Order: sequence, then structure tokens, then C-alpha cells
Amino acid sequence: MSDIRHDSDNHGNSSKVIILKSERDRSASAALSDLSDKDKPWDIHRAESDQIEKHYRGTEFQRYSDRIHFCSEFLDFVLRPTNSDALKLKLKAARFCHVRTCMVCTWRKSLMYKARVYKSLPKFLEDYPTYRFLFLTLTVKNCAIDELRQTLKWMNQSFTRLSRLKDFPGMGWIKSVEVTKGRKGDAHPHFHCLLAVKSNYFGRNYLSQRKWCELWRKSLKVDYQPVLDVQAVKAKGDLTPLIAEIVKYQTKPTHLIGYGGERDREWFLEYTRQIHGTRALSIGGIFRNYFRELEEEPTNLIGEDETDVSEDFGQLTFNWKRRDKKYRLLDFSTEYYTE
Ligand SMILES: [Zn+2]
Repeated sequence: MSDIRHDSDNHGNSSKVIILKSERDRSASAALSDLSDKDKPWDIHRAESDQIEKHYRGTEFQRYSDRIHFCSEFLDFVLRPTNSDALKLKLKAARFCHVRTCMVCTWRKSLMYKARVYKSLPKFLEDYPTYRFLFLTLTVKNCAIDELRQTLKWMNQSFTRLSRLKDFPGMGWIKSVEVTKGRKGDAHPHFHCLLAVKSNYFGRNYLSQRKWCELWRKSLKVDYQPVLDVQAVKAKGDLTPLIAEIVKYQTKPTHLIGYGGERDREWFLEYTRQIHGTRALSIGGIFRNYFRELEEEPTNLIGEDETDVSEDFGQLTFNWKRRDKKYRLLDFSTEYYTE
């Protein structure tokens, strides 16, 4: 393990930043994941993107492969003081590819979405203090991967029909699309929805699971019973982690990458064709006044904490080391001076 320390002189003036290195990693430059716990996901997602890049290589999506290759290759961080004598890293600059299936970009986007929700949710709760929340999962039968686009279109139209039914209790909603890979190589698209309902939902307007199923079946215009799950959100404190879960990703990285075989690759390439131009998140009802921003893709994936106005103690640049799957400090010296 390495450690970042802030060294002051006798008068308390900051003078330099030292990276203390253990015996073990003295031979290599310090790894980002060793210096900062909160930055551990960088290695994971960049390694996933390497796999995605490989899937696209030599296909009609070669340009995606090229763009992902150079995504977040270098990360510039500044050092900021914390309450203890340690310093924390704050991302200052990086170049992102913005390819929809890039795992680094997906992760960064989910952080930006989360920040937007955390900012807007208190205002909603203040304006509608008596409202309650439901977490709804709407599914349909699995479809072939090359029918995904068509299936999503039909599901979206069905959701619109559902939201217009007299019995539909949602006054506001966030809806996200998740697609999982079926065991037979088909696709399982489903919606995760957070609904805001009036408090009388839990009285005379209550809908049983069965009634919910019936409404969804009617909206889909099918003759089978679709699988549906509905849960009441017990505490308002559960809302932020729940929303974070909703905006996380459209398809799990493991499902996109698969085991690296040709069939997995074919599935993934077809998935890319099918989801192109489709919307992953949508906002409806009174939520539009609070969370409309969620429908726009964040262009800035760096993230700015406006409340943090502390001064910088220098800068560190990390470089993605493909072979050992780690971001490592670009400077090979053991000490890093900021003066
Ligand atoms: Zn990217």
C-alpha cells in the first residue's frame, strides 16, 4: 500500500506532498487504487471497457473500439486537504469517449445522475411531504436479441397506456430500462419505475399485486399474465439508494461482455445495433418539474463539487496500464513535490 501525506514545515505552511511507498510496490509506480479507496472503481471499469473494445474490434463498430481505447487513458487529479493530515484526490481532467456501452463512461454518467437526484430530491420532498413511493418492476416475455428495439418500443407505448389508465396511481415517475441476457441467448427487457403516489393510495386506492398485473396486461394487450413486482418504499431515506440503483446501467457489464466467446460477441454487437438511439431513462408526471435533467445525457463526466472551495496541493497524473489492469502514477519518482 502507498499513502499520500501532506508535509508541513514548523510554521504550519504546506510545503510538499509525499507519496510513501511500501516495500512491495517500491519497484513500480504507485497505483491509484492503492492511494485512494474511492477511486478503486476506475481499474474495474477501465478493464471492463478493454473487453468491450475487443468485442468491437474489426467490426462495423471499429470506430467505437478506437474511441473506447483512448477513453480516460490519463487521469489528472488534484490533491485536496481533508480533516486529517491525509489528502484526497479530486479528478480534474480526463478525456471520455461517450460511447454508450463504454463501462467507464457508464459509471461516470451514473455518478452524475446520482448527483442530480441528490440535488433535486429534497425540493420534491419539501413540496410534497405527504406523498409515498412505490418501486415497480414491469416485465414481458423474453424476446430474441434482434427484436429488442421493437419490443422496447411496444413496452414504452404500453407504459404510456398504463400511465393514462384511470386506476394508475403514479403522480410522478422515473422509469429506466434494464436488459438482461437470457440463458438461451435471448433478451429480457424490463422497466424499473419509481412512482410517487398520494398517501390515500394505501387506503381506498390501494392496488393489489394482482390488480397491478391486470393493468399491465391490459396495457400490453397480451393474453398472458406478465410478471410484475411492486413494493412500497418504507422510508424516505431509502429513496436515494433506490434511485441510484435505477440510474446505474442499462445492462450489467457481465452480460455485455459475456465469457468472451463468439456467441457472446454476436449478442453484444446485435445489442449495440438494437439499443442505438433508444432512451434508457424517462421522467413523467410531476417529477418532470424536478428531475427533467435526468433525461439529458451528462456531457461533463468530471463532476464538480461546488461546495468544495479548498485549495489544491498539487497535481497527480495516472495512466492506464493495460497489462496489469491498474492506473499508475505517471511520475516514477517516489516523492512528489508540489512547490
Ligand atoms: Zn468511455
